[in-house]
Amino acid sequence: MGAVKLVELLLTAEVFNRYEELTEDDIPKEIRKLLYSRGGIKRPLVIRADIAAKYAGEVNQRPPFVDLNAFSKQYILTSFDLAVKWLASRGVDLIRRNPALAYYYQNYDSLDVSYEEARKANLPKHGDKEWLRSVIEELEKKEETKEMLSLVRVLSPEEIPVDFKDVALSEEQLEEVRKIEVAIEEREFLRKIGLSDIGKLLFIGPPGTGKTTTARALSKKLYLPLLEVKLSMITSQYLGETSKNIEKVFEIARRMNPCILFIDEFDYVAKMRTSDEHAAIKRAVNTLLKSIDEINLVEDGVLLIAATNHPSLLDPAVWRRFDKVIEFPEPAEVIRRRIFEIFLAKIEGDFNIDELVKETEGFTGADIKLVVREAVLKALLEGRRTLSQNDLIEAIRDVRERLKLKTSY
Ligand code: ADP
Repeated sequence: MGAVKLVELLLTAEVFNRYEELTEDDIPKEIRKLLYSRGGIKRPLVIRADIAAKYAGEVNQRPPFVDLNAFSKQYILTSFDLAVKWLASRGVDLIRRNPALAYYYQNYDSLDVSYEEARKANLPKHGDKEWLRSVIEELEKKEETKEMLSLVRVLSPEEIPVDFKDVALSEEQLEEVRKIEVAIEEREFLRKIGLSDIGKLLFIGPPGTGKTTTARALSKKLYLPLLEVKLSMITSQYLGETSKNIEKVFEIARRMNPCILFIDEFDYVAKMRTSDEHAAIKRAVNTLLKSIDEINLVEDGVLLIAATNHPSLLDPAVWRRFDKVIEFPEPAEVIRRRIFEIFLAKIEGDFNIDELVKETEGFTGADIKLVVREAVLKALLEGRRTLSQNDLIEAIRDVRERLKLKTSY
């Protein structure tokens, strides 16, 4: 196996170097992640021995057309044609999964490979955490862009622990998500027909109803990096800075495209507006509105999601800028049932979920998570790893007490 993978690796690099029309997305993920440097993958690609060892493992016998330069520790193909022929007879499966090679081999002899198929099966580079790291490292080198990075939290979809199936959403919410998915898939088409003002979502609803979780799960599902920023965090006490910070955040999103820009605590704009109408505050708010106007999914590859717990604070000038408002209300019975099922899935015990759902009217997803955690901790204190219905009912009571305290202050 080692030799076949080594030749695959060397040929991939060679084909990529020869055909300028190929992009990073044409290199298989497993190979790509070993090759990122300085903000991406740069031509010409060279394959050093250490990289080859990571991909191909130990190679006992090198094929005659493969040389290792003892000084530079780089592999060299002494005959491209021989390598092509050699791999065609030993590694068709690898070729089928490798878009760059499928591109080269699709017209080769009677080899049955399809570039389209290989490309579809290969995940795009913008979800690779190695790619993101290389972009971040490059941005960190310059003082100006380094500052930009300190304002946002960048997550790769590979690092996000929550799966979309583990978020309980209503039919309406799911339908909006599906629309975004097709909009991303059909970006080119939408651009062509002039429908570019798309992909700005506003999530509204009380705290703990799953707005952040949905944004994260979307990043994983759509395989797009997630840039998280809390509006309060970029609001500087030096108001002049706030406008600049807002511009920087949107600039970072453009540079990382395609990506999701998630702006939490969006009602902070409203707070900025109502505090005394200082010129600098106005400027900051206007910068934000202008930045939102100027960015879009179709042209810039940035899906904007803003979230707020206090939608009533937002004025019409803000609402108007979003093409979709998705509500996250206190979860209805069906949703609470799903949330219980999700959180209890890995826990042993015999539960009457109907009763739990009835007892948790007015609870958010976050409250239910707390209920399960409290019940588990209490059971553990008593030396049990199996949960009883009673543990959960008691925990519901405790959490309800706590919620009452919260609202009475
Ligand atoms: P928000 O951003 O609306 O304040 P979060 O997304 O941060 O809420 O939710 C807080 C916690 O509650 C999350 O850790 C998540 O596990 C849980 N949660 C809330 N709503 C849901 C839901 N609809 N489905 C699954 N988990 C949820």
